Amino acid sequence: MKEISCTLITQTIKKLCIDACCIQTPDIKNAFLLAQHTETSPLGKNIIDTLIENAKIAKNKMMPICQDTGMCVIFAKVGQDVRIIDGDFEEAIQKGVALGYTDGFLRKSVVNEPLFERKNTKDNTPAVIYTQIVRGNNIDFIVAAKGFGSENKSILKMLVPADGIDGVKKIFLEAIKLAGPNACPPMVIGVGIGGTIEKAAILAKQAAIRPIDSKNPHPLYAQLEEDLLLLANQTGIGPQGLGGNTTAFGVNIEWYPTHIAGLPVAININCHAARHAHAII
Ligand code: SF4
Repeated sequence: MKEISCTLITQTIKKLCIDACCIQTPDIKNAFLLAQHTETSPLGKNIIDTLIENAKIAKNKMMPICQDTGMCVIFAKVGQDVRIIDGDFEEAIQKGVALGYTDGFLRKSVVNEPLFERKNTKDNTPAVIYTQIVRGNNIDFIVAAKGFGSENKSILKMLVPADGIDGVKKIFLEAIKLAGPNACPPMVIGVGIGGTIEKAAILAKQAAIRPIDSKNPHPLYAQLEEDLLLLANQTGIGPQGLGGNTTAFGVNIEWYPTHIAGLPVAININCHAARHAHAII
């Protein structure tokens, strides 16, 4: 049994929040560099160059890539041989988010309640936390800083089995066209297929933060990822919605078994910032 202190959890989450908002992940950086050569629209290429420069400045000055530093979504895989000491696990995470957003001078965008009061909590808490118990004696954290320009364009649909692959492609395209410039393309698109209504949404979120240079291990889903990426880039929406062939950098799919009568599909959209950071303690 390994002991992990809440102080270490807080410090780790604080750093991950700041890193996620200021440092582009290598897969997104590479996608931008590739797009410099593959984008066909001169205006689109210009935007790609500007966004590359923006990310460079953000990293060098440890300033946010975008002013909307999002709401934190945190995936924690907790080893079953870990004993958490000196406090409460979720409180330690929330404290790390508050410190990261305060000390890192990141915009606080979270409101205390969604409908009536909507008062800013002033430290970007609470984060949305998903905890999974796994084998081992480590805790694996992924912190995603989810901007809502793109989050707002995400959709979930309870298809039926008869809708099939064509049904998935149809609602995927609908989501991308509806998102248009408002999701700040080039997008990274997570698709969750199967499970139940909430499982499909979580799968889509996990897909949206999976590196875009990875493929789904199932060859048919890997092929569907490629097909959907092609569809997105054929829309002509382009960088920042001003036209071009780089509407999306990547499409990732995660799937789960489902009921004989169902085909839940969720599309979670990330903007070009696609911010997330990872640590194992
Ligand atoms: S969608 Fe992304 S790039 Fe656009 S404002 Fe939100 S965080 Fe910034």
